[in-house]
Amino acid sequence: MPKNPDTTAITAGRGPSASLAPGLWPSTVWESSSLTDATQRATSLRSGEFYSRFSNPTVSQLEQAVAELEGAESALAFGSGMGALASLVLALCGQGSHIVAQNNIYGATLSFLQGPCARFGIETTFVDPAVPGSFAAAVIPGRTMLVLAETPSNPRLTITNLAELGAIKGPFTVVDSTMATPTGQRPLDFGVDIVLHSATKGIGGHNDALLGVIAGERDLLNDIWSYSVMHGASASPYDALNALRGIRTLAVRTERQSKSALTIAHALQAHSSVKDVFHPFLESHPQHDLARAQMRHGGSIVAVELDGGFAECNAFVQKLELAHIATSFGGPETLVCHPATSTHAGLSKEALDAVGVTAGLLRFSIGLEDADDLVIDITNALSR
Ligand SMILES: *Cc1c(COP(=O)(O)O)cnc(C)c1O
Repeated sequence: MPKNPDTTAITAGRGPSASLAPGLWPSTVWESSSLTDATQRATSLRSGEFYSRFSNPTVSQLEQAVAELEGAESALAFGSGMGALASLVLALCGQGSHIVAQNNIYGATLSFLQGPCARFGIETTFVDPAVPGSFAAAVIPGRTMLVLAETPSNPRLTITNLAELGAIKGPFTVVDSTMATPTGQRPLDFGVDIVLHSATKGIGGHNDALLGVIAGERDLLNDIWSYSVMHGASASPYDALNALRGIRTLAVRTERQSKSALTIAHALQAHSSVKDVFHPFLESHPQHDLARAQMRHGGSIVAVELDGGFAECNAFVQKLELAHIATSFGGPETLVCHPATSTHAGLSKEALDAVGVTAGLLRFSIGLEDADDLVIDITNALSR
């Protein structure tokens, strides 16, 4: 039966057990009945009940849930979003490989591509995701192995056209969909090969699980699995359990957060000391129509550019009573960060300018507090 994603969040990843809550399997190792049985377990693909770096029943349940949410044949979980990204890149690329990635990609992804990848002879071309055709134009036939996008992007919420990306043939196309969450958009429906999430954010949703996931075709994920057992960025069953609990409320949390985020974005727009506000579903967003066409909701992030720089931002955030000064997003509490000096602190002035991370830019992760309370808190702090 075709289901609304909100229903899938409730039904996904149920194992054969009659228990309505997932089982926790902390075991790292399983016993074999004979040496032949041991060989069978050691050599089978994504072998269950062998050794937890290969597979774990609680982690498998999370993988099943994410696969169902993303409309994928299969999913793989990792110890973090970066664990997922690094495993994927190192599994699919080799010396001389070429990657096309967007210029405003997640900070650690950028560092990984420019650091270890470059050192191992994997070259990356960075493109502007807002320019139509930019990804396809940078593909070098026969050499480009991966096309890497992140939509919406951090922190200015640039949108990549998923249909355009999905139409690229040859290299594997990958979308980091962390900011949208699986109930916000489904990149695989647009022909994209792999969707990636830092499940530390919206999927886990409670700031208590460090996880990454990828989803796509079974054969491709099995190939990545064969490498990732050596890479060892395996997901913890304790964290997987927390994320499975998080998924049950994913739809209601993201719907509420996205709605509040848009309310707050409108309130910020109306304030005189605000220079610019960014949210995918805001009418003023340059890619508003595209965002509405490919996303079910606009997400929980609002970026705001204040008149002034670091000092003005610092004075403002100190006056907030509800929002916590913290990185990350997708949890119950509203958070605020100053990207130029936190998430993007490693970038040069030129690199910051190139991706629009100015000294006056703040990023809010809207939580589950009452939206009117948040508007009052934020506008009061701005006015003081
Ligand atoms: C947080 C994040 C990551 C990295 O995930 P970790 O779980 O912190 O390793 C990757 N991409 C995006 C968009 C993120 O927000």
